[in-house]
Amino acid sequence: MTIVLDPLPYAYNALEPYISKETLEFHHDKHHAGYVNNTNNLSKDTEFEGKELEYIILNANGGLFNNAAQSFNHSFYWRCMSPKKTAPSAKLQAMIEDSFESMDKFKEAFLNSAAALFGSGWTWLAQDGKELSIINGSNAYTPILDHKKPLLVCDVWEHAYYIDHRNARAKYLEGFWSLINWDFVSSNLS
Ligand code: MN
Repeated sequence: MTIVLDPLPYAYNALEPYISKETLEFHHDKHHAGYVNNTNNLSKDTEFEGKELEYIILNANGGLFNNAAQSFNHSFYWRCMSPKKTAPSAKLQAMIEDSFESMDKFKEAFLNSAAALFGSGWTWLAQDGKELSIINGSNAYTPILDHKKPLLVCDVWEHAYYIDHRNARAKYLEGFWSLINWDFVSSNLS
C-alpha cells in the first residue's frame, strides 16, 4: 500500500476570491503531490513501506519525516476550508471561550501567530484534553508529534499565498479566516 494523494474536497475555483484556482492547482497538484510522491519513493524498500502515514510521521526522520508530515498536513489543511458558510459547534465555541475568552480574541491570537511565524510553517489550533492551544510549527511540524489533537491548521508557507498576494501574508490570513470549515474543526474535537 502506498500513500495516496487525496483529491481536493471542492472544486479548484471554489475558494475564490480568497484563494485562486491557480494557487490551488499549484499547491495541490504540484506541492502536495510532490510530498506524497517523495513519501512513497523514500519509504520504498525500507521498514516504512506500506505503513500508515501517522506511523511514518512518529517513527521516521529526515526527508521521509518531512515529506510524510507535509502529506498529512496538506490533507488536513484542505479540509479546514470550505466555500460554504459554517459555524463552530456549541462545544467548540465554549472551549474556545474557555481558552481564549472570546471568538474575537481567538481570531486575533490565531492570525497574529500566523503572521509572526518566521519562515515556512504551520499555525495550528490543537487540543490537549480540555485545553486548546495555538501552536506555531516550523517546516513540517504537526501536533501529532506532541500527541495533541489537531483541530485547525493554516499553511503559512509562501507557496500557499505567493501567487495571489505576493509577500502580503496578512491578506491571505484574512481570506483564510473567511474560509474556515467550522464543521470540520468542530468534528475534530475528541
Ligand atoms: Mn503548502
